Amino acid sequence: MSSNIRITRICQFCGGSFTAKTTVTKYCGDNCSKRAYKLRMKEEKIQQSNTETATTLNQAWVNASQKDYLNVKETCVFMGISRTTLWRLVSKDSLSAKSIGRKRIFRKSELETFLNQ
Ligand SMILES: [Zn+2]
Repeated sequence: MSSNIRITRICQFCGGSFTAKTTVTKYCGDNCSKRAYKLRMKEEKIQQSNTETATTLNQAWVNASQKDYLNVKETCVFMGISRTTLWRLVSKDSLSAKSIGRKRIFRKSELETFLNQ
């Protein structure tokens, strides 16, 4: 049914015009269609990675909200700051870290006090 129609369309990948046989053709040829597919896969992977990051952060947040003492990662999530900022606060004695072996932990009530100052 569609073999007789010829429609000029714009390729969604390269933006060039081409003659299509159907009204739903998106790309001017195999090249663009493959490249667009690869790009889409890449974007999906980025999206997936972002979702994973968000899930991990969420989990850290849930962990943080249930504990009295937080590890470095949870402290950063809890306060919404980076590790660098956290260590700067520690070195300025704005916050005190407790050491358990090589692990550093922070008392949540102290973090809350600091945030409410
Ligand atoms: Zn194209």
